[in-house]
Amino acid sequence: MAEIRKQPGKATARAQVPWVTTPANPAPWGNTLRIDRRRAGRASPRLVSVVIPVFNEADSLPGLLVKLVAVLRGLDRPFEIIAVNDGSSDCSLPVLRRLAATMPELKVIDFRRNYGQTAAMMAGIDHAGGGIIVPIDADLQNDPEDIPALLGKIDEGYDVVSGWRTERKDAPWRRNLVSRLANRLISKISGVPLNDYGCTLKAYRAEVMRGLRLYGEMHRFIPIYASWMGARVTEIPVRHNPRRFGSSKYGLERVVKVVLDLIVVRFLDKYLSKPIYLFGGSGMLSLLGSFAAFWLMVCLKVFDRISMITTPLPLLTAMMFLVGIVSILMGLIAEMLVRTYFESQGRSAYLIRELIKFERRDAA
Ligand code: UDP
Ligand code: MG
Repeated sequence: MAEIRKQPGKATARAQVPWVTTPANPAPWGNTLRIDRRRAGRASPRLVSVVIPVFNEADSLPGLLVKLVAVLRGLDRPFEIIAVNDGSSDCSLPVLRRLAATMPELKVIDFRRNYGQTAAMMAGIDHAGGGIIVPIDADLQNDPEDIPALLGKIDEGYDVVSGWRTERKDAPWRRNLVSRLANRLISKISGVPLNDYGCTLKAYRAEVMRGLRLYGEMHRFIPIYASWMGARVTEIPVRHNPRRFGSSKYGLERVVKVVLDLIVVRFLDKYLSKPIYLFGGSGMLSLLGSFAAFWLMVCLKVFDRISMITTPLPLLTAMMFLVGIVSILMGLIAEMLVRTYFESQGRSAYLIRELIKFERRDAA
């Protein structure tokens, strides 16, 4: 008799949240059913698609592309390079046009305005035809010579190979220390331990990104998403060079964005199909606090004759009561949104691995 395969507890819990995507059930990071045909299964498995987000990098581009093409031509596999011009205001686009005229493997996507690195990478991934996708920075800080090692790991059977800039050449305190703390935090919260989420140079098997939509600064979290889809993730040290041309596009404000994105990822993973538990739970706690403050206030008045308004308790009671009620109401609104999210687009809150002894309705 056929047996239903039991999934481990965590995987089952996760499968209820549609992180695991199918064409009918895209990732919750996204809000669209527009899934690229190639990522939905038509990618050429051996083709390597290198994706370069470009924002005001005119001086670095020729050097980068010459080196990239030299390294990739040395490999025994087909490749394409997709440069995404993210609304550069310098002459990055003319430079790319000129290079594309001489390099048959180079394709260019030109955004109408600056949408950010995540959007640029997303566009590159959407238009990539390769079975392996390798994003790389345009500023020559990543070294194309590390790509063969990344691909080697993919050939070993890993689905995601993450670059780890062991000797980072950025400002030691402002960037490196903050990034080390951020990596620890992201690893802890996501349960996917990586030393360098921020390194753009990584290699992905295209199928683990099927249905993926990215927002905010979420390109860093692709390995988390992939790992939740059951991908095998590993990390290898890569070189890192100081920036020679142009300037970094980010400051410390990035930390705030990453932390907020991390909260979104955590929320979507745990509460997408039951937001009332989060909002309602904190609302209940607040109501409980409000009742405790109320009774303390009454007891102090009755037994110790302490006037209510000489204590902060009336204010606390009222505040916590209001916060509690509002949280619960927000939870109810979130529940309605979740229903719209799932039902309007025909998504399902669960995924079935196999149906045993069911007749296929559509077979009739
Ligand atoms: N980038 C982009 N759009 C932006 C900001 C950055 O496409 O709005 C690109 C940029 O051209 C570079 C990569 O993203 O290729 C990483 O940016 P940067 O080198 O400034 O980041 P850092 O190395 O300082 O973390
Ligand atoms: Mg850089």
